[in-house]
Amino acid sequence: MACVVSIIPGDGIGPAVVSSARKVLEALSEVYGFKLSFVEALAGDAAKRDFGEPMPKDSLDKIRSSDACLKGPVGETAKDVIVFLRQKLDLYANIRPFKTLPRVSTKWRDVDFVVVRENTEDLYKCVEDVGEEYAVALMVLTKKACTRIAKVAFQIAENRRRKVTVVHKGNVLRSFELFRAAALNVAKSYPSVSVEEMLVDNAAYQLVVNPQRFDVILTTNMFGDILSDEAAGIVGSLGLAYSANIGDGFGLFEPVHGTAPDIDPSYANPLAQVMASKMMLEWLGSTKGNASMLEAANGLENAVLSLLEEGEALTPDLGGRATTEEVTRRLVDMLLKGRGTSRRPVVY
Ligand code: ATP
Repeated sequence: MACVVSIIPGDGIGPAVVSSARKVLEALSEVYGFKLSFVEALAGDAAKRDFGEPMPKDSLDKIRSSDACLKGPVGETAKDVIVFLRQKLDLYANIRPFKTLPRVSTKWRDVDFVVVRENTEDLYKCVEDVGEEYAVALMVLTKKACTRIAKVAFQIAENRRRKVTVVHKGNVLRSFELFRAAALNVAKSYPSVSVEEMLVDNAAYQLVVNPQRFDVILTTNMFGDILSDEAAGIVGSLGLAYSANIGDGFGLFEPVHGTAPDIDPSYANPLAQVMASKMMLEWLGSTKGNASMLEAANGLENAVLSLLEEGEALTPDLGGRATTEEVTRRLVDMLLKGRGTSRRPVVY
């Protein structure tokens, strides 16, 4: 039976990069023999313009009845779409892998870490009171949410280099004690994983001076948001950073970047969106027990590495001159010719 993927094309460069990811998924389903069907769910600035609301009920229904969602970046209405969906669908784990990649110019080599960000609470609950003379925003943390995100971080670390860095600001705000205590409590069930604590200001510094020291960074919503844009800069380009928003029964996959209003959409780098679809295949493959999807995810990652190594079809953010369309065509061509063959296991 086909898995149904809801697609939010988004705004700005969104439709271009989402269309690229869809073509790549179609090629993969042909090569690896699994079935996907796609349903478009319009949301964001375009939906607000055309239907009067950024997250129309019809789109929410389509997303809810799908097996997974592939989302493009959304513009001014991002809060009404992605913050809303994370909370509404309880997509509590935001998983963002960062790796240095072939030919992508950076100051570092061999960077490979994952940011695991709590996705439903903290200041992004948006409980605010703003008056003429004051502004108050409530930071909400619960033991339940802190514990379940810590479990995700330790499970990921178990399959990697077995180290979790718990990032908080407990020296200033007592509230972080809840987050810290939940993480240290979960750590007891993962004796093979080492755990360290780090204040967020030091984490921001360590990311810049010594990013290789990190394996899994576990942190709260807003700190995770900020640190992951920093991390994207460290591995070379926002055009390569991708993420998963996972709940107990549903996953939404998207690039870390926004709508890039400053560039021509036909030259947008589609690789972050494409790699978001790789994460979607991994998640669908493991939750539905579909081995072909897992193989396809591995094949896709290897094809992206080959494309970067070859260096002939790169967008301007990576120093090339190719269009989004040309990168997509090259990638699809590689997949159809079997260039995405296995050479290392999929680990994020
Ligand atoms: P938004 O308001 O939607 O968040 P933004 O410009 O504030 O947009 P991003 O869209 O994340 O933030 O862009 C930050 C920078 O990274 C911009 O210079 C943008 O052009 C560049 N960028 C982001 N994504 C890509 C991409 N896929 N390809 C090429 N450049 C990108």
